[in-house]
Amino acid sequence: MSVPRFLVGTQAIASGSAVLRGSELHHLRVRRVRCGDTVVLLDGNGHQRRGIVASLDRRQALIQLIDEVVPPAESALRLVLAQAVLKPAKLDMVIEKATELGVSDLVVFTCERSMPATQDRAVRWNRIATSAAKQCQRASVPRIRGPIRFDTLLQEEHAALRLLFWEGATGGTVSTLAPQHRSYNSLLAVVGPEGGFSELEAAHAVAMGCLPVTLGRRILRAETAAIVAVSLCQMLWGDLGDHPSS
Ligand code: SAH
Repeated sequence: MSVPRFLVGTQAIASGSAVLRGSELHHLRVRRVRCGDTVVLLDGNGHQRRGIVASLDRRQALIQLIDEVVPPAESALRLVLAQAVLKPAKLDMVIEKATELGVSDLVVFTCERSMPATQDRAVRWNRIATSAAKQCQRASVPRIRGPIRFDTLLQEEHAALRLLFWEGATGGTVSTLAPQHRSYNSLLAVVGPEGGFSELEAAHAVAMGCLPVTLGRRILRAETAAIVAVSLCQMLWGDLGDHPSS
């Protein structure tokens, strides 16, 4: 069982001790952590340290930090996944899997055939991303923005390379593109809704500089395409498959 991990503020990580209350204290109890146990504290912004539980009562847990800084499991690639609004459970899964696969940010967008943007789900999305980051031992929790409109995404979300994963793409695959774009360190991967992109939307995205990319002849579910797209990008430009000691 991995060392339990808890989210604290950046200033706590920089200081010598931290206090866990509320949901993090509940998580500590769920993990049956006791006084004297070792834990890892992360601030969600790439910093993390080991600590020892110094005291524990109903209200709070006091953690004494020890100097060892656990190397963050972060990719050098700034990979942003832009995902059209899906049915809630599917979008929740995309957020969890994209976090495990090391995306830096997620942007949720609406387009012609996307599901209607449901009521504010930012708190839920952030909770899913935080839980997934702890589980996969990341020190960073991806920021999740949106929903924003597709044209706003194309105008505002810049990256060195922007890939439109489109079932209607007839040209490049990620592997044929990679050699031409080896040196990029920031990438936007755009995945559409269950209903797909319209021809007009795809043409607009290409006109705005996105490269249309096919994932092959089979039509994947949006949530499958998101996982495959992020995996391929992380494999070709990021750290998927890097040796843990590298
Ligand atoms: N409803 C459409 C398919 C949508 S698939 C139809 O039946 O034609 C959902 C999303 O996954 C698409 O918008 C696209 O972003 C991605 N996707 C699925 N299969 C793909 C493929 N073979 N190549 C590239 N993207 C794909």
